[in-house]
Amino acid sequence: MTELKSSPELAIVVPLYGEAANLPNFLKTLIPFVESVCKDYRVILVDDGSTDETWLTITDQSRYYPKITGIRLSRNFGKECALCAGLEHTHAQAAITMDGDLQHPPELIPEMVNIWRSGQAKVIEAVKRERGIESPLNRFGARIFYTVFRIFSGVKLDGMSDFKLLDRQVVEAWLGMKERSLFYRGMINWVGFPRAQIDFDVPIRISGGSRWSLLGLIRLALNSVTAFSSAPLHLSTITGLGFFIFAVFLGLQTLYMKFSGKAVSGFTTVILLLLIFGSLTLSSLGIIGHYLARIYEEVKGRPRYIISETFSQPRSGESRIEKPQMAE
Ligand code: UDP
Ligand code: MG
Repeated sequence: MTELKSSPELAIVVPLYGEAANLPNFLKTLIPFVESVCKDYRVILVDDGSTDETWLTITDQSRYYPKITGIRLSRNFGKECALCAGLEHTHAQAAITMDGDLQHPPELIPEMVNIWRSGQAKVIEAVKRERGIESPLNRFGARIFYTVFRIFSGVKLDGMSDFKLLDRQVVEAWLGMKERSLFYRGMINWVGFPRAQIDFDVPIRISGGSRWSLLGLIRLALNSVTAFSSAPLHLSTITGLGFFIFAVFLGLQTLYMKFSGKAVSGFTTVILLLLIFGSLTLSSLGIIGHYLARIYEEVKGRPRYIISETFSQPRSGESRIEKPQMAE
């Protein structure tokens, strides 16, 4: 791993899941932009357990682009873990993280690097001006997620993408965060440091559809909110208190009715109370259960990802396949 961890000026970290068809075109577009601004760079391609020819394409492309490092994960661990694998395998002074489907335009790279070199910022973020062509369901889902996330965690992530340049200091700070469940965008926001933003329009995916399933997105949204905020846990306390006040009034009224001899059967009230408290108790249990599961995941202390092979062209020009290793 030590040899693989080279220290160029710039590292481009790209998570790839089933991107074999996109990869040659992606690299052809990316490399000239990178080389126009930096000669000492490395492209770290992380194959996130793709079932197509992605790994083969990575090794194949490295014949044309010797500055490629390939990391192959043992299965699909998700984009956040793939990004982590890439970032842990570089000592570069700055790292750029981006998608491998050309939805993050490489044209922005020279500007990002120039802002970083000028010392104005340690995090340069590409912010989506337009969300590109998306289904109304995705757009609606994203809006709900960002609103809920903002309400619970106080962090505004609207328009943020994973296309970012991070200074070495920021990468180190991020790697120092040891939680197992990752939410890259939120965590980079959390670490602070001076930041600059560049706007961009999301182009259409060059080939294939989004690699996220609806269930995967819902899971990510749930995990992100609970990773960044314990507010949902307090929600049941607050609603509980609200209903306690309501219950005091209702209790007083019931007693008054009873003692004044006007008590009716009260069937509706009983049913309503039963329904309200039943659903409140169950949803509170659900929230607590979710946090418990998250604690369980963290306590198990499993690695964030497992590497099955790595590939990099050493400076001599000879390729090298390394033995499997585990993340710490
Ligand atoms: N990706 C990944 N693992 C996954 C899902 C996606 O490494 O489990 C990669 C994917 O290959 C792409 C990037 O993450 O390079 C963004 O994925 P996608 O384009 O599907 O996401 P979207 O653009 O819809 O947010
Ligand atoms: Mg995409």
